[in-house]
Amino acid sequence: MSLLSLEDVNAYYGESHILRDVTMRVEEGEVCALLGRNGAGKTTTLRSIAGARPPDVRGGAVRFRDEDITTMEPEDISTRGISLVPEERRVFPNLSVEENLHLAEVVHNKSNTVGRSIPQVEHVGMTTEDVYDEFERLRERQTQKAGTLSGGEQQMLAIARALKQNTDLLMLDEPYEGLAPQIIANVEDAIRRISETGTTILLVEQNAAAAIKLADRCYVVDQGKIVFDGTAAELRGDDETRERYLGV
Ligand code: ATP
Repeated sequence: MSLLSLEDVNAYYGESHILRDVTMRVEEGEVCALLGRNGAGKTTTLRSIAGARPPDVRGGAVRFRDEDITTMEPEDISTRGISLVPEERRVFPNLSVEENLHLAEVVHNKSNTVGRSIPQVEHVGMTTEDVYDEFERLRERQTQKAGTLSGGEQQMLAIARALKQNTDLLMLDEPYEGLAPQIIANVEDAIRRISETGTTILLVEQNAAAAIKLADRCYVVDQGKIVFDGTAAELRGDDETRERYLGV
């Protein structure tokens, strides 16, 4: 059984049909990359999994640990252990690093108690100390306002906030966007370490070359359809797919 599976998922913004019969799976413990050009449907796929609306998912099923989560509320999906770090790295700019981390926990615990359906598995996120062990840079900057951090540091903080919640499946939407190559390397290291602790990762990237380096398996989406499904090694060897859909 796959940790996550999508079967023939169709998603719409109003009447615009965006995802067309998207079928994919993410196995426990792996780094899975979803790649594709600007506008291909990557963010829409992540939002469909996380229960964020829009888009409307009409047709098909999203299953997590063999439970159908297609029509669940985002809070209920989150309490099951799925976290999405959106492209815009939502951190609270006027709060300190420490306060941002604390708030992630409070918000999560609250949604745990008000959720309509009680999660079957109780998830415990990382402690602040665990987070600082993982991201030394955040420890150094704990009293600094998040808005004054560099792009790379804000990305680390956004990921750390997700890890404080409870994450079995960490979904990262373009974590390298807008970062200098040196900083990308730091974020890559962080993702690799998180993966080594057993957290499953679904990574969405336009920077295909960087994502392929980290990934075990890859999907390529184009115009809302999955056009490639294989190992990272297979994609590396498939010049036609890379040139045609990824431009690398
Ligand atoms: P990007 O790198 O630009 O985020 P993406 O692969 O994540 O690319 P999506 O954001 O999933 O692409 O967008 C897929 C399609 O859906 C695009 O044609 C986009 O214009 C459209 N779209 C995205 N969000 C909305 C929305 N809220 N309302 C209407 N159409 C949307």
